[in-house]
Amino acid sequence: MNVFILNDGCVREDALTQNLRERLKKENHSITTDYKNADILVYTTCAGTGYSIDECIKTSYCLQYYKKKTSPLIITGCLAGLVKELDFVKNRNDIKIIENKDFVVPVTNYINEENKRTTKKLSLEHATRKICNEDIFIQFMLEDGCTNKCSFCKTHYYPKKVESISYLDALTYLKEKIRNGTKIISLSGDNLTLYGIDIYKKPVLHNFIHELSEEERLKYIIVNEITAQNMYPDLLEELASNKKVVQVSLQLESASDKILKAMNRGHNLEKYDYIVRRLQEQGKIIDTVLMTGFPTETEEDLEKTINYIKERKIYVEGISGYEDFYAIPSHELEQLSNSEKRRHLMTVSEAIQKSNYEVLENTMDYSFTKESIVVGHNDKRVYLANSMTHYSIKKDLYSLPLGTIVKDQPKRIVKRIGSTINFQYRY
Ligand code: SF4
Repeated sequence: MNVFILNDGCVREDALTQNLRERLKKENHSITTDYKNADILVYTTCAGTGYSIDECIKTSYCLQYYKKKTSPLIITGCLAGLVKELDFVKNRNDIKIIENKDFVVPVTNYINEENKRTTKKLSLEHATRKICNEDIFIQFMLEDGCTNKCSFCKTHYYPKKVESISYLDALTYLKEKIRNGTKIISLSGDNLTLYGIDIYKKPVLHNFIHELSEEERLKYIIVNEITAQNMYPDLLEELASNKKVVQVSLQLESASDKILKAMNRGHNLEKYDYIVRRLQEQGKIIDTVLMTGFPTETEEDLEKTINYIKERKIYVEGISGYEDFYAIPSHELEQLSNSEKRRHLMTVSEAIQKSNYEVLENTMDYSFTKESIVVGHNDKRVYLANSMTHYSIKKDLYSLPLGTIVKDQPKRIVKRIGSTINFQYRY
């Protein structure tokens, strides 16, 4: 069958979609981008913000409208449960809603008219996202859900209890991956700082990182979705002292204490900065995400954020514009006009583009950049990573097999477009 797959979800959904695509290909289905003529369509939705909910509903509507009448449309992902209430979905035999969080096997069951189960082994694989489509560098979703209540967050209308993958299962699985060639692991979750509180009644991320790093063939660990609010001393110590941890992603959103308070972030800049300084002293790269246009935000708040990011040399992974939604507490605050929100986003985006470049140039002096790993090939590019993934077009690097450790240090950045993966480095 020709299967059209569209993912509008987050990295977790991206990992699932990647696994779904691979599974379908193995079963001799072909993947098509032609949604009008596909035999079956799979749409993965997002419920992260009011805006993404609206967009996913519109896209679901368009797909059911343009697809062939006989081709089923499968709607899955975070919004699946909500979409089924809408008129255009009700009483339609050609629209199938799959609400399972891990939708890979249920979707293939539907396509193949089978009744297979998601085994423990499969669920671990489905939590794995390949960077550059290879196993050398993987992202692993160790945890799901968050108990915090940031005033702009989906946790108010889409609460998910914390669900951690069992320590032993995750460790055994990742060790096996390492034995089979994985050299860089990026650990992720909704709020990874909380890993373990559901199963072990206490956070255990520090132990997990420690044990994982003891695997000799593993070269680098990246730790994502860490919150200052939930940081605990053992974790900070492990992140700082573990030589294999090269990068920590610490959500900031804003460097203005007034805005952090209105966001109900549970920390102020001083607490955040204490963590950043402790990690940077030990040579770790810090990256973050920012939000602009939050209600009551002023030019002064923006300036604080831009200056702080520049001063601390923090890499900004993403900037989101605040989107209001009736179901979040920040809806009650005085909102900025759309034009003000756009202006704030542009101001910060322009400043950050420049500071990100400077941060990346600065990281070239870090000790771990002396050893990069070949993590993928594409056209005439070879992708390399230690923490940030970048590419080179140098011919003798291009011919190196995956997993090779390159001991040359990059000299400078020669081209930059968008995300780090699109930065060309000169070796
Ligand atoms: S820490 Fe992150 S996931 Fe948790 S409530 Fe805040 S924004 Fe949402």
